[in-house]
Amino acid sequence: MIKKATKNTSPRKTTAPLKNQAQSMTVQQARQQLNITVDLIPNTNSNRPGTPLQAKKVTIHNTDNDSAGADARAHAKYMKGTDAQQRKVSWHFTVDDGSVYQSLPVNEVGWHAATHAGNTTSLGIEICENQGINQTAANTRAALLTALMLYELHIPLAGNVVQHHDWSGKNCPHMLRATAGGWTAFLAEVKAFYDAFSADAPHSHLAALSHHAPVHALDVAPAGKRLRPRVSAAAFRFGGAAHAEGVSGVQSDILSTEFGGGSEAGMPSAYGGIVDPDEPQASLPARVPSSQRRVVVTNPANGRSVECLVNDVGPWNTHDAYWNTGSRPAAEAQHQNGDVAENGQVPSNEAGIDLTPAAMLALGVHGPVNTRKVRVDWEFV
Ligand SMILES: [Zn+2]
Repeated sequence: MIKKATKNTSPRKTTAPLKNQAQSMTVQQARQQLNITVDLIPNTNSNRPGTPLQAKKVTIHNTDNDSAGADARAHAKYMKGTDAQQRKVSWHFTVDDGSVYQSLPVNEVGWHAATHAGNTTSLGIEICENQGINQTAANTRAALLTALMLYELHIPLAGNVVQHHDWSGKNCPHMLRATAGGWTAFLAEVKAFYDAFSADAPHSHLAALSHHAPVHALDVAPAGKRLRPRVSAAAFRFGGAAHAEGVSGVQSDILSTEFGGGSEAGMPSAYGGIVDPDEPQASLPARVPSSQRRVVVTNPANGRSVECLVNDVGPWNTHDAYWNTGSRPAAEAQHQNGDVAENGQVPSNEAGIDLTPAAMLALGVHGPVNTRKVRVDWEFV
């Protein structure tokens, strides 16, 4: 089932309009639709205090900025600058009609609610209102993000989506508050999306094993081409407070798929023995020396990290040591361009690392075994 994709696909695709009529939706589908860019405030900035947060609520805001261009990306950039530090403001997500930018990990406190109680118990989501925005689309995107956060962070829906106004009395989110029935409609959208996640939960269609063929079968097809330069790692923070910004050797924003569990349980490892689904293990698309058999993998969406034994070769490619060359994983371009990978297949995703079920759980990624995906940062220990 090899299909040829269009050439010159842009790296970041435009997202389709969101709809909330879906009967069921996976977390992965939601993240795909949300189009989240993780662009964290540097952890050396004062408006990212690093205070641990276990969110119990989600606080909704409007940006109160109707300038042209005051979109999600612009607000993420703003939060990294000096003015936001002087004003002591920060929040987790900014949402416009086409994208979401994440500025803080969901397990760190932001300064958005104007009260200690609000800041230390809730995630902050700002909805843009810039000139020319499709406000309905932005509100729907924010509702989907809110539902996803409730679902992923195990926050009960009832009573836990609140307005900035509820904390401090400020007229915020003023757009939703000014529209008759606006807040009620927003909450109804959140509930519809939340129910869609819950409806999906019992499904269990195991992914085909195809992307992780045994390594001995792999030295046949032509090597994949690398077409894209490595993105800057500077915007991504790795692994909690102990690590500095932009450390060389951190591989940022790498798609991870899952391997070694479910019907793959007991699969042989390219390094000998078997892959253990109950241990945090990883697979990289080139054989590594014994000195590089351990990696730390971080989920930047929640700050969780796990140390993994590198215990197989794959996904898709077997000689793609992108970590040595400063390249992106070859599967990214292969997937976009419809090119054949080293295992003889056109990759059905951009994965540059695989993780076992135990590693996925440690990173807080939920869902049916062997279907989970997450964008991670990783580096050798
Ligand atoms: Zn507000």
